Amino acid sequence: MGCIRWQHDGAPIAGDSQQVLARDVVCLLDVPTHKTGSSFTKPVDPILGQAVDAWQSIRPDQPKFTDRRTSELVDPLFAIRARRVSTSYINNTMIPMLCRKAGVPAADIRGNITSHRARSTIASQLYNAKEPMTLFELQAWLGHRSPQSTQYCAKITPNTLTKAYTEAGYFERNVRTVEVLLDRDAITSGAAATGEPWQYYDLGHGLCSYSFFEQCQHRMACARCDFYTPKESTKAQLVEAKANLQRMLMSIPLTEEERAAVDDGQSALDRLLQRLAEVATPAGPTPNELRAEPGRPLPLTVRSPPDSTDRKCC
Ligand code: SF4
Repeated sequence: MGCIRWQHDGAPIAGDSQQVLARDVVCLLDVPTHKTGSSFTKPVDPILGQAVDAWQSIRPDQPKFTDRRTSELVDPLFAIRARRVSTSYINNTMIPMLCRKAGVPAADIRGNITSHRARSTIASQLYNAKEPMTLFELQAWLGHRSPQSTQYCAKITPNTLTKAYTEAGYFERNVRTVEVLLDRDAITSGAAATGEPWQYYDLGHGLCSYSFFEQCQHRMACARCDFYTPKESTKAQLVEAKANLQRMLMSIPLTEEERAAVDDGQSALDRLLQRLAEVATPAGPTPNELRAEPGRPLPLTVRSPPDSTDRKCC
């Protein structure tokens, strides 16, 4: 009894001495020591406070009871004819009766509707609200001793998960735009059909003529690949000088490792190259095999790194 307290006029809002709370907008519930924690106070919907006040005004006088956890003499809110109302009465009698009255099923796919299910539902709603409570705030609100109990109670909804995922910008973070040059002459003349290169991915430092560029694992550093033409070579300059060249932009998804190589710099790039050292390039040989071949131009990895404005694909 006496577990409801109303926040009345005159209480300044913390951090703002100019404003005071409106009368009765906040209802505080004092929760005694319970099975998952010690006593605490939490704000609740005013409708709960009104219902408790209404019950307290008609509750017949009862003898005091000994609290099982604290051994203190207490006045339990729900007691009648000198007996406490048991939790099994709430779950097995009162809630099914209320469900019948409301015309809703007393059980669903997760089992019977119980007082704990109500608590879990409210916790999930507060956790998934537009301005959600944090897990720690929810832990305090539910009176849990450990955050694990709160995690078990508050389920994250697919909507909240989707929103968080979208806001994390995973796709934007992992996509870069690369310029693609299309040799229209090679397409219209039919040379493309005979295997002539007709599209070139502009890597900034060079051109890649591999049609499945977006699937190539080596595109951060082209390891002397046969599909690669350095920008300073005559061949690349001839391609870029073609009159019938069409330019378009293409979005290329990056792997986490590639993104790290772009964002975190040389050491992440070196880690990526090390991992790919024995992975075959689209032309066949691995970077280690290419490195061993005499007469090949130096691999890109040992050249001075291209400046960041040039690295369009990464
Ligand atoms: S390794 Fe070869 S195929 Fe891959 S991106 Fe570089 S040039 Fe293109």
